[in-house]
Amino acid sequence: MANSNTNILTPEKNGVNVSEDLKYSFPDTRGYFGSFGGKFVPEILIPALDQLESEYNVVKTDPDFNKERFHHLKEYVGRPTPLTLASRLTEHYGTGKIYFKREDLCHTGAHKINNTIGQVMLAKRMGKKRIIAETGAGQHGVATATVCARFGLECVVYMGEEDMRRQKLNVDRMKLLGAEVRGVTSGSRTLKDATNEAIRDWVTNVEDTFYIIGSAVGPHPYPMMVRDFHDVIGLETESQCLEIEGRLPDYVLACVGGGSNAIGIFYRFINDKNVKLIGLEAAGEGETTGKTAATFAKGKPGVLHGSLSYLLQTPQGQIALAHSISAGLDYPGVGPEHAHLFDTGRVKYYPVSDKDAMAAVKRCSEMEGIIPAIETAHAIAWLEKLMPSLSKDEIVVLNCSGRGDKDMGTISEYFYGS
Ligand SMILES: *Cc1c(COP(=O)(O)O)cnc(C)c1O
Repeated sequence: MANSNTNILTPEKNGVNVSEDLKYSFPDTRGYFGSFGGKFVPEILIPALDQLESEYNVVKTDPDFNKERFHHLKEYVGRPTPLTLASRLTEHYGTGKIYFKREDLCHTGAHKINNTIGQVMLAKRMGKKRIIAETGAGQHGVATATVCARFGLECVVYMGEEDMRRQKLNVDRMKLLGAEVRGVTSGSRTLKDATNEAIRDWVTNVEDTFYIIGSAVGPHPYPMMVRDFHDVIGLETESQCLEIEGRLPDYVLACVGGGSNAIGIFYRFINDKNVKLIGLEAAGEGETTGKTAATFAKGKPGVLHGSLSYLLQTPQGQIALAHSISAGLDYPGVGPEHAHLFDTGRVKYYPVSDKDAMAAVKRCSEMEGIIPAIETAHAIAWLEKLMPSLSKDEIVVLNCSGRGDKDMGTISEYFYGS
């Protein structure tokens, strides 16, 4: 399916201020989405967050900033990404029509770079010389190291040593891109420990350092900013679906880790009440087992990484270790905007197991010639539940958040035992 609408990325045509034409206007001035969000950080960081917020409020509607941003998205990231009819999966189910929004075709292989481009531009504009980030699986670290190389900024990425061992290829990618990867040896030596270390660095070097957060999480204004930088996904989907089908989709599906690819494609449609929005979270070995990352099915409100949201917790209220076969969904929290959309019922969230996701990796590879990221496969798996209940002419758009090349180690081990 060809997309002839290659010029849909002009801000003039689409309007750069995404919230202007939406009545939904969260977050409020305190950074809350209903009861969730806020700024739960050491007091020393409040001025930095305030400065970031006021700078962002300027660039958000600044035509020059957005013109440049959209230029990078087109010339460097490769946008717009196509909306591809998944024709054999569509035929297979025999009901509805399935389209993939192809974020897997973005430079670096996933949606994450939409956000890192926006934040690095902001950092440059604010005169920051140094970028820090934390990474779990390494995907956000790679997306950050990539834009730092492109924009000529110093880059330090914090990563737990356990994660460094598991994700050596991404560590080497970051090094090759010129970033310094700092191993973290505290705690479980994984993402949450790397995040603590990144925050410690930020507190110490707040004058010249910009902290690039990789999902729709963290203290205000990050969840809003990350959402806005990913809104291009929904913006394109809307006009592509109108062009191809003459109307909006009936369903939009996306996997949810912290929630950035999902909010990116959902945000446009929040006020279109006929568009049903579905988020798929990682059940791991099952949402009733201890080895899960199903934040909505199993979590309770709590504070993590600077904001109040749903969170997997131990009976004592400490942060529980998450589990998912997909590194990108292996996170005990979720962005505060999703917590609000969950509580209001505007978005439905369902858990999908490791097993069902892996079966979907295989099905999609064999039937569409697209090897999806294991994260994405959680959304693809849900088609098994959704499609039988649909009528023939209903339209489903699934956000194909990334490609599976990065997961070939896990996939080989799972299917071929090597
Ligand atoms: C990081 C990642 C995710 C999960 O992050 P979100 O912020 O929830 O989007 C999903 N898919 C892919 C391919 C990723 O790399």
